[in-house]
Amino acid sequence: MCSECQELMEKHQKSLVEFERQYPKYCHACDGRGYFEYSYDPSPAGVSLSPGRMYDTEPCIECTERGVCPLCTRPLTRDSDNRTCGCPENIYAPSPPDFECPQLIEQNRIYWQEVERGIKQR
Ligand SMILES: [Zn+2]
Ligand SMILES: [Zn+2]
Ligand SMILES: [Zn+2]
Repeated sequence: MCSECQELMEKHQKSLVEFERQYPKYCHACDGRGYFEYSYDPSPAGVSLSPGRMYDTEPCIECTERGVCPLCTRPLTRDSDNRTCGCPENIYAPSPPDFECPQLIEQNRIYWQEVERGIKQR
């Protein structure tokens, strides 16, 4: 991995450590979101009427489904629609950076080339 991508990873790790210090008990199943987002194709099976997918969310069975806050695990009030107990709702564990290091790709390409050669020689 090149130094640029290394830096990206280190930045991510730092923000994750920071997040875990603030919310040491956050729900790891949903990264503290309290829900899962999924996409689906709304057109009937076999027919693709409209291109594109629909997005929907499902409560996390590990926290909000159990009535606890996804960030601090305090019980949620039943009559509230909020996902959290009062913790900020738009905060969740940072996800790793989505990068494609050209150096790493090149390394992998060479690696697989060598594996292929190795198989051919046998
Ligand atoms: Zn959860
Ligand atoms: Zn909370
Ligand atoms: Zn790189």
